[in-house]
Amino acid sequence: MDRATIGVDLGGSHVMAAVVDEEGKIHSKHEQDIDDHAPAAVVNALATVVKLAIDGTKHDIVGIGIGSPGNIDPTTGTIRYSPNFGWENVPLGQRVRDAFPKYRVFVANDARCATLGEYVHGVGQGTQDFVLLTLGTGIGGGIVTGGVLALGSQMGAGEFGHHQIRPDGGFICGCGKVGCFEAQASGTGLIRHAMRLAPSFPRSGLLDVPRERLGSKAIRKAAQAGDGHALATWSAYCDDLALGLANVIAFVNPEVIALGGGVSSAGDFMIERIKPLVDLRTTMVPRGTTRIVRATLGNDAGAVGAATAAMRGGLIAQPPAVIA
Ligand SMILES: [Zn+2]
Repeated sequence: MDRATIGVDLGGSHVMAAVVDEEGKIHSKHEQDIDDHAPAAVVNALATVVKLAIDGTKHDIVGIGIGSPGNIDPTTGTIRYSPNFGWENVPLGQRVRDAFPKYRVFVANDARCATLGEYVHGVGQGTQDFVLLTLGTGIGGGIVTGGVLALGSQMGAGEFGHHQIRPDGGFICGCGKVGCFEAQASGTGLIRHAMRLAPSFPRSGLLDVPRERLGSKAIRKAAQAGDGHALATWSAYCDDLALGLANVIAFVNPEVIALGGGVSSAGDFMIERIKPLVDLRTTMVPRGTTRIVRATLGNDAGAVGAATAAMRGGLIAQPPAVIA
């Protein structure tokens, strides 16, 4: 029987469990909404979808990997701090082990899991130095350097979202600082740029789009159709994104930066625009040597990476070479 693990994407409002084989291929998905953030209720929802995934597969399940936002100790699976759930020091790993004693259980930050997923099974394959940045509601990320996923001394490596790029006059970030990369260059940041520029474009077609539908797709389409407001928005957004990317290049010098999340669906329309802006700000690394590409696993990256970690017994980017 082929081996597989369960990869779980645990978010603040939703949990998804997938059966993922050793090649990173997803065979089935089970999902449930979460409306109660009490640890027992969240573990209950998680256990329900994991059980459905295990019961519904013919694969030989050898472990359960969970990716979730927050600061997480991957050696124990304890969530030290999670703003999404309002948790401090919740032993999620132990609770899931208690519910599924037959399986090894691994818990880690969702952005680190997504980075591992893209590195092992997505667009990072074959590189040694790789960065994933997910441009969604916020900015998540992770670093592989020399073939090793960087975690940091307190599990904070790769928190690119909260380095400040516009401390003067930038948007206020959810973390309380001003002008964080996440506040300026996430999907939410794109909409904030559109709002900030709105008074200069009183006849913009964008202002007719209902607020709840004003997302990156609507703004990109309007920009492609030549709308002045949308073009100015893209321009301000890409400038901020490029600024942050140039900083990432200076810190990490990756071979590839993969962009994921909702905004990355703009593809070349965004990437071709930011490349020259990144080059302009890149000084100590030879310009144009960092490939900026679109991530390939999409929303599945976190679950695939969590499953990979469960298969390998940790956030291991490159399995040790077998010595004959
Ligand atoms: Zn911040």
